[in-house]
Amino acid sequence: MATKRDYYEVLGVSRSASAEEIKKSYRKLAMQHHPDRNANNPAAAEKFKELSEAYEVLSEPKKRQQYDQYGHDGLKSSFGPGGFDFSRDFTHMSDLQDILGSLLNGEGGFGDILGGGRRRSRTGPQRGDDLRFDIEIDLEEAVFGAEREVELPVTEECENCHGTGAAAGAGRETCRQCSGRGYVISGGGFFQVRQGCPVCNGEGTMIRNPCNKCNGAGRTRARRRISLRVPRGVETGSRLRLAGKGEGGGRGGPPGDLYVVVHVREHTLFERQGDDLLCSVPVSPIVAALGGEIEIPTPDGFAKIKLPPGTPNGKVFRLRDKGVPSIEGRGHGDLHVRVVLEVPTRITSKQRKLLEDFAAATDNSNYPDAATTHKTAEEFFTRRDTLRRATKA
Ligand SMILES: [Zn+2]
Ligand SMILES: [Zn+2]
Repeated sequence: MATKRDYYEVLGVSRSASAEEIKKSYRKLAMQHHPDRNANNPAAAEKFKELSEAYEVLSEPKKRQQYDQYGHDGLKSSFGPGGFDFSRDFTHMSDLQDILGSLLNGEGGFGDILGGGRRRSRTGPQRGDDLRFDIEIDLEEAVFGAEREVELPVTEECENCHGTGAAAGAGRETCRQCSGRGYVISGGGFFQVRQGCPVCNGEGTMIRNPCNKCNGAGRTRARRRISLRVPRGVETGSRLRLAGKGEGGGRGGPPGDLYVVVHVREHTLFERQGDDLLCSVPVSPIVAALGGEIEIPTPDGFAKIKLPPGTPNGKVFRLRDKGVPSIEGRGHGDLHVRVVLEVPTRITSKQRKLLEDFAAATDNSNYPDAATTHKTAEEFFTRRDTLRRATKA
């Protein structure tokens, strides 16, 4: 364990310093090292705690005397087994309020120093929470954009009391139990315990005459219908932000934002890949062999493309700018059309006769891939036989 620094040294005062000098020095250093002014600097919080501990001891004549006589050992019974704990052992909160004034009223990190025992100041205006709402849309809606009505549960500012929680004409009053400090001290001597004020829940103020619509909460639950414009080109995971459409604020604070997260359903015809669309088009093997025009679906309607003679199965044609409009408004994706040969499964006897005649008129030269495969297989078997003979010998 690191050696504890001398309290006089921590506060930068001499051992003969007056109470006034100690307070003055604490004021200066506490302002300087307050965590609110030193965001992202954990050392400041430690420093602030060290200062507060030193002030806690040196500002109390009895503790100061014990410290002067026995050093840090003389104070063991003053603090808990873990040593000084700001949230439990610091009894000069009113001095700190006096010193730091405005810092305490904000939504700053003060509650964090105090630890779990007391909530941060909640008497100021509070911004409402952000809301997340998920919607499922069809591919058509993602490609062309859509207007959607959604209904979502929200907490809104109570219209009766405009969020104050108090009945008309009444307001928040200083809590009489804790005189507005937000905490109460029980016990005596070295065993004082500080707790959040149970009457005002640590807020320091309370409503004696609550609004009858929201029972003092200042907010009411409601279902709200919102019309939503889904822009062209959204995809799964797109987030639409609706400023001010989140939860209502408290005590005059602004509402939060609503984030709508989009999920695009799969489509049987078009597969989405970013801004590109993929579409498989069944084609007759005869058209593929002879070449010719085929009809293909695009987001804009049917279009025609020309297949060259001998188009193989699986061949992909790209149609520029026939995909999804980019959500940033920079052009379109492409449409990729894949040719899938559809073999006729039910044929008439006349068709069968024609196909048989056609088959009889063809030979291996019409099917070079089949010939190649056959040849490669024969080579494989030859090599296999050679190896077998070699291992037997
Ligand atoms: Zn109300
Ligand atoms: Zn109170």
